[in-house]
Amino acid sequence: MATKDSFTSYTENLQKYLRLDQKGQIMVEYVWVDAEGGVRSKSRTLKEQEYTPKDLPTWNFDGSSTGQAPGEDSDVYLKPIAVFPDPFRGSPNIIVLAECWNADGTPNKFNYRHEAAKLMEKHAEHEPWFGLEQEYTLLDLNDRPYGWPTNGFPAPQGPYYCGVGAGKVVQRDIVEAHYKACLYAGVKISGTNAEVMPAQWEYQVGPCLGIEMGDHLWLSRFLLHRVAEEFGAKVSFDPKPIPGDWNGAGLHSNFSTKEMRVEGGMKHIEAAIKKLEGRHMEHIAVYGEGNEKRLTGRHETGAIDQFSYGVANRGASIRIPRECAAKGYGYFEDRRPASNADPYQITGIIMETCFGAVAE
Ligand code: ADP
Ligand code: MN
Ligand code: MN
Ligand code: MN
Ligand code: MN
Repeated sequence: MATKDSFTSYTENLQKYLRLDQKGQIMVEYVWVDAEGGVRSKSRTLKEQEYTPKDLPTWNFDGSSTGQAPGEDSDVYLKPIAVFPDPFRGSPNIIVLAECWNADGTPNKFNYRHEAAKLMEKHAEHEPWFGLEQEYTLLDLNDRPYGWPTNGFPAPQGPYYCGVGAGKVVQRDIVEAHYKACLYAGVKISGTNAEVMPAQWEYQVGPCLGIEMGDHLWLSRFLLHRVAEEFGAKVSFDPKPIPGDWNGAGLHSNFSTKEMRVEGGMKHIEAAIKKLEGRHMEHIAVYGEGNEKRLTGRHETGAIDQFSYGVANRGASIRIPRECAAKGYGYFEDRRPASNADPYQITGIIMETCFGAVAE
């Protein structure tokens, strides 16, 4: 007869508590974006019922502990904006994504959603769709990419992209668990793949309409950090985690409007690309920290100081997928954003550049 090992009895102990009745109450995890492009969260108990954002109480946190407010005026308000089923605690428990607001009624400095939402609303008639490709690297607790030898480097890039098999990919359990968690939560995850650098992975979220893109991408990041936490791994969104001949990590941003998605759409795609060309440096300014280390013009990137575009060209700032060029309509891919960029800033500036600013 098998004896229980200590791991088994530990997890069984935990299950015993997780199965306990909640007595008509639910655990609600409020999630927000912090000052460093990370996520923070805290929980509270509410009565069990269906919740939309407007049914949920505004809450607050100590902004002086997160670099989001000064110590003498430290309350930052959490305004609920989207509700998701909680894949960690299971339904009826929920996760609430919240915007950060200051006590004086102004949006917090790191609340990039507020401006983006105004742009999305103003230009809603174009029905903007976004699809973001989130690349990331899995690190151990010593900040070393999984599977990398302690001294030296893995064999050169080649076998790892969409790799299958030991020695080619690591930590697939985290990837699978995250995929399921996103589906459970209703995050519009559309796929996943192993990336070019070993220990690097990608997932895609989209197509999403307007502001939903930023909401779903931020929630997917929260879910990834939480899943990886349970596996004892760190998630890095550093755009160039390892210097040298190793691919960086991006957040390719695919974009289309109603006009681009139908016959004759290519002229709308070309018009948008022309506008993007005129504001290249404004875009680069909000496309992520440390992106200059990644956008070298090598490793499937366009150079940071040069705007370029082309059909099927992965060395350009903007790529028009081959299939779209052949059909004459569809979408295009902005390859410039870094993996650590804010999706509200990306989608917001694309709308502003293509269709104009929101008047004050
Ligand atoms: P890549 O070939 O660059 O690796 P992926 O398959 O990883 O492309 O990602 C493509 C992304 O484009 C997905 O997130 C998908 O949802 C998105 N997408 C597909 N069609 C459209 C569209 N018409 N408008 C905006 N995004 C789209
Ligand atoms: Mn306290
Ligand atoms: Mn991709
Ligand atoms: Mn990729
Ligand atoms: Mn891509």
